Amino acid sequence: MPAILDPAPSNRGRTGAPGTSRRRLLGAAGAAAAGLATGCSAVGARRRDVHPRPLSRQPFVAPRVSADRVVRVIVGHRPYRPSGFVVRREVDGPRTLIHNYGHGGGGITLAWGSSALAVREARGLPPGRAAVAGGGIMGLTTARLLQDAGWQVTIYTRDMLRHTTSNVGGGQWAPTSVFEEDAATPGFLAQFRAAARISHHAYQNLGPGYGVRFIENYYLGAEPLEAPWYLRELPELFTSVAELPAGSHPFPVPWVRRVVSMIVEPAIFLRRVRDDFLRAGGRFEIRDFASRDELLAVTEPVIFNCTGLGARALFDDTELEPAKGQLVFLPPDPVVDFITVGGGTGVSYMFPRSGEIVLGGSFQRGDWSRHAEPAVTERILADHRALFAGFS
Ligand SMILES: Cc1cc2nc3c(=O)[nH]c(=O)nc-3n(C[C@H](O)[C@H](O)[C@H](O)COP(=O)(O)OP(=O)(O)OC[C@H]3O[C@@H](n4cnc5c(N)ncnc54)[C@H](O)[C@@H]3O)c2cc1C
Repeated sequence: MPAILDPAPSNRGRTGAPGTSRRRLLGAAGAAAAGLATGCSAVGARRRDVHPRPLSRQPFVAPRVSADRVVRVIVGHRPYRPSGFVVRREVDGPRTLIHNYGHGGGGITLAWGSSALAVREARGLPPGRAAVAGGGIMGLTTARLLQDAGWQVTIYTRDMLRHTTSNVGGGQWAPTSVFEEDAATPGFLAQFRAAARISHHAYQNLGPGYGVRFIENYYLGAEPLEAPWYLRELPELFTSVAELPAGSHPFPVPWVRRVVSMIVEPAIFLRRVRDDFLRAGGRFEIRDFASRDELLAVTEPVIFNCTGLGARALFDDTELEPAKGQLVFLPPDPVVDFITVGGGTGVSYMFPRSGEIVLGGSFQRGDWSRHAEPAVTERILADHRALFAGFS
């Protein structure tokens, strides 16, 4: 079964259960406020833990979803490999080639960690000149870590940031939609855990200005929600995890799980890391490699392959396939301060970013088409209109 969050298949469908009324929510919020005002006892505090209340502003403010508010619709292709992403070193004559590609729907999440593992593959080599093929999030984070380790780096890339998949990604920090549990080896799972842990730490450690912040995520389902692999295996990376009882949230579904994690805004993050790379003496060269041999002909003796989906053709990796995703953008709304995942009739999620509200989505394996599909847009809008209809 795919370790997917992007929209857990089990989250599909909604019951149409009536939304909690705003008055009821205000009542709950009022009661909580009253408890605080009268000097809440330890017992009272424990009671609230038993019935965890949302942490977001009260009452929740829903995004305004309608077709006439759509700013744009975009499509991207996740570089998906059922057995998981590749971090591996190989030696080809005088060249050392280190792969770092195939991160599916979790490449933003895993970037620092996977790139740290890739750079570790260069151990034993004296820092000198290195080539990084690919200017998406894997290429940029690999390049920055190499620079920190004393390497002089050139990024060779067909596309600059704006045109990469990384600039399309939603940016939720969740290592999901990356592999299928029955296809992954124990070796891969160890690599995956390490990458997730390193990446989580690194994102937290960046300081301000990188477009990274903590946010509540609400997973919604008509059926009881399965704990995804990453929540079972990496619980320390997620805080405030709770199953919310009816009446403590406004969502029109019976099963709601709250998880606090990060959101990474690609438009801010990628440009900031690019600027760091340039400031540290890095340079870009626009190249479109037609073959492995062409890539290996660059002058640097150490080459990192961070070409995402491009690795399929360059390295004949036929397991690597696109998973097409479609996103619908609405104007930003700073008072919307939570993520939702699920609760719709298909893949559904809502991410509030500073520049836009992102509504997703789709996960269409093997689909190379680049056009946005009107039917998918309509379904995404309808799902979210229904989800937020009872909020006010
Ligand atoms: C709709 C959608 C939503 C997503 N949401 C999330 C999310 O919420 N959280 C999350 O963690 N991840 C998410 N992802 C996944 C994430 O965006 C990807 O896993 C990640 O961007 C992959 O990064 P990359 O650097 O490997 O690939 P890319 O960003 O595709 O970069 C590859 C680079 O290689 C270059 N290249 C390729 N071939 C060649 C060649 N032959 N010669 C020269 N250069 C070449 C390209 O020009 C590009 O610069 C989402 C993806 C999509 C599409």
